[in-house]
Amino acid sequence: MIKFLDLQKINGQYALEFNKAFDNVLKSGWFILGKEVEKFEKEFAGYCGTKYCIGVANGLDALILILEAYKELGIMQVGDEVLVPSNTYIASILAVSKAGLVPVLCEPKIDTYLLDSNIIESKITSKTKAILPVHLYGQLCEMDEINTIAKKYNLKVIEDSAQSHGAIYSNGKRSGNLGDASGFSFYPGKNLGALGDAGAITTNDEKLFETIVALRNYGSFKKYRNLFKGMNSRLDEIQAPLLSIKLKNLDKDNSYRQNVAEIYLQHIKNPKIILPKVNLPKSHVWHVFTVRVENRVQFQDYLSNNGIETVIHYPIPPHKQPAYKELEKMDFPISEKIHEGIISIPLSPIISKDEINKIIECLNKF
Ligand SMILES: *Cc1c(COP(=O)(O)O)cnc(C)c1O
Repeated sequence: MIKFLDLQKINGQYALEFNKAFDNVLKSGWFILGKEVEKFEKEFAGYCGTKYCIGVANGLDALILILEAYKELGIMQVGDEVLVPSNTYIASILAVSKAGLVPVLCEPKIDTYLLDSNIIESKITSKTKAILPVHLYGQLCEMDEINTIAKKYNLKVIEDSAQSHGAIYSNGKRSGNLGDASGFSFYPGKNLGALGDAGAITTNDEKLFETIVALRNYGSFKKYRNLFKGMNSRLDEIQAPLLSIKLKNLDKDNSYRQNVAEIYLQHIKNPKIILPKVNLPKSHVWHVFTVRVENRVQFQDYLSNNGIETVIHYPIPPHKQPAYKELEKMDFPISEKIHEGIISIPLSPIISKDEINKIIECLNKF
């Protein structure tokens, strides 16, 4: 069986270094917001090219904390609107709701699956305060266009970089440094994954940084003095050194993913299979490699019978989820079409040549 993503094998490569890191933290006797978190925050800010990084508990919290900080700073208030893509992983939309703001869904482009910058302006109202582009599947959104619109209407741009660690835009800047603030997830399956939940926020905005530093820690800068009604959302001291270790290989892992994707794009040739469109090679780090087919159930069974594991990202669009009953009657035909046919095939930093060849052969025979 070719696994969709073999996390045991991926993390097994680091067993010796990980054990040393565990040992260090254990010996230090310091388990919350210590030297390891601080070290990773510096390294990750450096990697993304931003002034600041704040380690938090997970990717959902990262996005919530950014929005909560804008509320504390008086830039947003309860009831304001945030534009989000209609075909994202639901966390991007949940973050907006959890912060007391209103998610306004925008359709993606059918070929890149990314927010369509041409329809953003039509969704802007006097209540719109931010655009939340999601670099879905690892590919960066059209950030020049999005930032231009944001400037025109005085909106904040909050990147959801949960799937795009390390992706490089046409201006040479990385995911996390392409808007006003960015949320990252280090969920185990992400391109940079911890051994549990973890996340981070990057920004160049000093006020936002300071506010989030307090908000992630009960709204407190100084122990037992609470400036804001904050939350407890801190990157674990035990996860931070593991992320530092894996960060050193992130560029190498991403270029391996890009090579595999290039091979798939060149060699998968089947009129029944629609391949994803790439805007710029370096701007896609292939968190997942998706294809679209008409008979997805049949396709998935066929691959499974041939020993190839697949995953659907994502089977149900957010506006059709029971959690968002209020959006159920809205029409997002492009999103619905994507969700109907999309399916991800194995691609990882450790997939072998033989596995790649077998996958291509199987897809071409479908
Ligand atoms: C994974 C993910 C998140 C949430 O991250 P968690 O760490 O699981 O909370 C948010 N947005 C997108 C696009 C994601 O893929």
